[in-house]
Amino acid sequence: MNRPKTYHITTFGCQMNEHDSETIAGMLSQMGFSESPGRDEADVAIINTCSVRENADKRFFGTLGQLKKKKLADPEFTVCVCGCMMQQQHVIDSIKSKYPWVDIIFGTHNIHQFPQLLESVLREKEKVVNVWEDGGDIVEGLPAKRLYKHKAFVNIMYGCNNFCTYCIVPYTRGRERSRRPQDILDEVKRLVSDGVREVTLLGQNVNSYKGDEHTDFADLIYRLNEVSGLERIRFMTSHPKDLSDKLIQAYGDCDKLCNYIHLPVQSGSSRVLARMNRKYTREDYLNLIAKLKKTVPQITISTDIIVGFPGETEEDFEETLDLVRKVEYDSAFTFLYSIRRGTPAEKYEDQIPEDVKHQRFNRLVETVNSISAEKNAGYVGRVEKVLVEGLSKTSDRTYTGRTEEFKLINFAGTPDMVGKIIDVKVTEGKTFSLEGEVI
Ligand code: SF4
Repeated sequence: MNRPKTYHITTFGCQMNEHDSETIAGMLSQMGFSESPGRDEADVAIINTCSVRENADKRFFGTLGQLKKKKLADPEFTVCVCGCMMQQQHVIDSIKSKYPWVDIIFGTHNIHQFPQLLESVLREKEKVVNVWEDGGDIVEGLPAKRLYKHKAFVNIMYGCNNFCTYCIVPYTRGRERSRRPQDILDEVKRLVSDGVREVTLLGQNVNSYKGDEHTDFADLIYRLNEVSGLERIRFMTSHPKDLSDKLIQAYGDCDKLCNYIHLPVQSGSSRVLARMNRKYTREDYLNLIAKLKKTVPQITISTDIIVGFPGETEEDFEETLDLVRKVEYDSAFTFLYSIRRGTPAEKYEDQIPEDVKHQRFNRLVETVNSISAEKNAGYVGRVEKVLVEGLSKTSDRTYTGRTEEFKLINFAGTPDMVGKIIDVKVTEGKTFSLEGEVI
């Protein structure tokens, strides 16, 4: 078969999508393709989309538009689109009518079929739309071309049952399905034997993981903590309603579980949380934080916050600011609420004017950043264990890595340090990172 030789993947969205792209890259490598440095030089371009934020939607259509010229000049150039947006019929309809030159559309549930779809398109020269409505059985054993040699993402569950009223994910990723614990353990052991020292367990709602009747998420952490050669365990993303006392205790008991948690709060107002269908109150959340800090005093905490959810009053927003000050987050991903088509909140009539949203957003960012800077300044003089990731993007002599508490730290290093855990003394705390020197 006379098939193209190079590919390029553009990924939007979260770490689940990043990991799906690693799987797509792994399958293409097995087919004999190699990675191209840019879309323009590639024989096959894949765009892996995200539907969570309006901004990612817009960027996807902008990126797709840029491929038109090359596709029209070179019909052999193959354009594939996949990911969460493809699970929405109105998106597929729009691509078919406005971008009819797209060759393959596939969804989040049938990534494993991509090699067959690509081969069929290359052979038959016919376009393919193949999107499964739900996931069926989890397909094990797919290859992955990892971004890093020493750390890896491991999907432990797929989908979400929570139906937060602003979120499209339960409609695009389907209901929760957990992998078997033994399959996860086997994968982690294989990764460790391949040089991986840190794994991040992935899922839309990892802490509702239910592997079998004896294995919930905390049990899985305890079992992974026994894997010889593995040094760090992280997870992403967790839901406050599923943060059990048992999982909090695992932080105290499991030395490989990093002292860091990303615990999305979304709002500091119980009234807004109820309208978001988050299933916890402000008080529940603050109780969880108190328990975490009691069990692991050095824990670092990050969160997601949505500003301007429909009906959010100035008092509700003040409660969010107050909660941010009380928790003292190390960092926070802050978002302006945007309507997602097909979600319950799309129908809420009390949408917040854009100027009010922006004004609140700026106040929130200011508060979050000043706490982050203050907390990072408190690290000066401490010696941190840092897993070295590689060169920083801004310099060819500055290396970058993560502390156990997930702080990004920059320091002068050497290539042989990459993938190792080394001691770095913190010399400066900035808003978003630390500076240090190797000792
Ligand atoms: S927990 Fe809520 S925000 Fe997270 S993926 Fe599920 S529905 Fe979306």
